[in-house]
Amino acid sequence: METPDLIQSLYVHVPFCAQKCAYCAFFSEASSGELINRYTDALVRELELVAGDLKPRTIFFGGGTPSILNLTQWEKILRAMERLNLLGAEEFTVECNPATVSLDKARLFRAYGINRVSMGVQSLDEALLDRLGRIHSREMVFKSFDILRQAGFDNLNIDLMFAIPGQTMEIWRATLKEAIALGSEHLSSYEVIYEEDTPLYQQLQAKEFDVDEDLACEMYEALVEHAMGAGFHQYEIANFAQTTESKGERPKPKVAERPEIAQTLDPGLWTLDIPSRACKHNVNYWRGGSFYGLGPSATGYVRGARTKNWSNTQLYCEQLEKGKRAIESREELPPLARAGETAAFGLRMVSGWPFEDFKRTTGHDLRSEWAEEMKQLTERGWGQIAPERFQLTRQGLRFADSAAEMFLR
Ligand code: SF4
Repeated sequence: METPDLIQSLYVHVPFCAQKCAYCAFFSEASSGELINRYTDALVRELELVAGDLKPRTIFFGGGTPSILNLTQWEKILRAMERLNLLGAEEFTVECNPATVSLDKARLFRAYGINRVSMGVQSLDEALLDRLGRIHSREMVFKSFDILRQAGFDNLNIDLMFAIPGQTMEIWRATLKEAIALGSEHLSSYEVIYEEDTPLYQQLQAKEFDVDEDLACEMYEALVEHAMGAGFHQYEIANFAQTTESKGERPKPKVAERPEIAQTLDPGLWTLDIPSRACKHNVNYWRGGSFYGLGPSATGYVRGARTKNWSNTQLYCEQLEKGKRAIESREELPPLARAGETAAFGLRMVSGWPFEDFKRTTGHDLRSEWAEEMKQLTERGWGQIAPERFQLTRQGLRFADSAAEMFLR
């Protein structure tokens, strides 16, 4: 019989890329065939070690560039997941670089239940793609989008970046228009950040360009305006999704009237104002849910304990070859501190925190423990309190990091 408290979310980090992008501080390295084979075996071992505690509703393979793995390597991982009874998730996402999508790979993904692809497009301007050190061209974006549709994917995300050095408002608007015209179900868009130890950061330090905060704000406004104009619903600061209704399918009743949804999703995970094509895996993060994180550098959060794997692929492989998890650190926060973090994460969502959901998730009540913070944010025009929830205003969402900090204990 199924144990009710098995962990329902799985993140897998694939730490390889064709080359390093100029702005990237994620743990990833240029790929070498032999190390990827070794990683693949180690990952299968790590999956075996946690499988007994896992029944994933959402799976996310991120990176790095998961699509850089070849067909044989993918098949090995997916077959192991099948053997370990880890397939069949409601949402199974793989991040893909447009330069590494092939029809064979897309069909293999579909055959094993991968039903969502997140494409790292970043820009549709060739000069900016070069500037960022991306390996793909704009043509590859259009081609891989077609391949994925041809293979039957009906849930695609496009990732875009704004405030890239050299990006004008005109270029940004053109990219938004073209990207939205592709008709994806989901859109994520982040402002460039300058992480230490990246070439882009060094160029900034050397004053090769200036950061224009006003332009970045205008670009964010344009993003929201274009996305909403195209029928996307904003559900998080940087995330927009269609609903099945807005994709022109047969209108469905609202979530509350749909018993099949109420039964398959945690009540605290889903609220009426989250669009149906939202990334369920990320909603679980923002709502403070547990998840296993596998692969080098991956973090996990299981029953109140946060773990982090070694950010070193060799070491990761060595540990698993000895039959051990590759955990570098483990931390268990006191319940109130954990609740504060959960509050902070959840406020990134447009729907904010419904009080009852928060209480069910953390055991603490926002209305008593964080009454003063909510009052201050409301007075500043950054937050609003409704009878059933607290949420950030549109202005507050722009300063979500500062607002969220106030909830940390
Ligand atoms: S593809 Fe992604 S993970 Fe890889 S270097 Fe570029 S930004 Fe970093």
